[in-house]
Amino acid sequence: MEKVVIIGSGCAGYAAALYSARANLRPLVFTGKHPGGLLTTTTIVENYPGFPEGIDGHELMTRMQKQAERFGARVKFGTVEAVDLSKQPFTLTADGETLQTETIIIASGASHRHLGLESEHKLENKGVTFCATCDGALPIFRNQPLVVVGGGDSACEEAMFLTRFGSNVHLVHRRDSLRASKIMAERALGNPKIKPIWDSVVTEVLDVKHDKVTGVRLKNLKTNKESVLEAAGLFVAIGHIPNTQLFRGAIDMDEGGYIIPKRGTATNVPGVFVAGDCADRVYRQAVTAADTGCAAAMDAERYLAARNG
Ligand code: NAP
Repeated sequence: MEKVVIIGSGCAGYAAALYSARANLRPLVFTGKHPGGLLTTTTIVENYPGFPEGIDGHELMTRMQKQAERFGARVKFGTVEAVDLSKQPFTLTADGETLQTETIIIASGASHRHLGLESEHKLENKGVTFCATCDGALPIFRNQPLVVVGGGDSACEEAMFLTRFGSNVHLVHRRDSLRASKIMAERALGNPKIKPIWDSVVTEVLDVKHDKVTGVRLKNLKTNKESVLEAAGLFVAIGHIPNTQLFRGAIDMDEGGYIIPKRGTATNVPGVFVAGDCADRVYRQAVTAADTGCAAAMDAERYLAARNG
């Protein structure tokens, strides 16, 4: 029987693991499909306190994992496929194996949002990608025109990263101003290799017939005019959706699938706590995820102390 199982291995998951490990609870962390979470798809993290020069996202997550393991956290590469939260102890199934636990910390994060186009789906990994950091350096994108969709920090960051490889980068946004933070927007728009295309959406990725990206069909939302833009790659950076499908029906969530915490990090099920992006539609920062991970571990510890005396 486990005392604390943590579902997810991003900033929230590892902060929860660190704190519950230091409380001698020997937490078991399930990494999910993407160990280290979304931060591993970022190049340089400049806004995590304590790293004045910035730190590579992958390195930051590896350090967090090591720090939690140093105090007794156990990290298992695997995905939780089913949960039964209807009675204590809770039952989890991960990669075909079943286990029981007194508390669960849900830190399952969020995944990349897709445009929802059939051509986007068909050309995924054939020029369509959701992570410039992961794929931007591929030979197919070198010295080629590239397209980034989105107007947030992610889109700006991806566009700037891609200027290292592409001949130029078109930043396609559905409105006429960026949602990104001021500093990121200024950097992106000030980069001579980045060309914004305002008020426009991608309606089709070309060319499914050739089984690779050759361009995108655009529609200007103000004029309704359509045009074709040549490109070797489409990088979709339009935000995220919370990874909470597993808990639907058992844990209270809003219409967007974000878990609604009750008091602190507690959910509607006593013994189940939540941390990080899967419960945060507002801040979604590495540091706020780590913050709630710490709080969830402390809440779980107090719950166990009250329950077991
Ligand atoms: P975001 O801030 O939610 O921005 C998503 C962007 O995609 C918005 O501009 C949105 O347009 C657009 N969009 C959404 N759905 C769309 C659709 N179906 N078609 C076309 N465009 C669509 O997401 P994010 O950029 O991933 O950022 C998430 C959080 O992470 C933010 O808090 C951000 O500050 C943080 N972040 C920080 C950094 C950094 O500081 N280094 C880097 C990355 C992310 P509208 O503007 O019209 O809504």
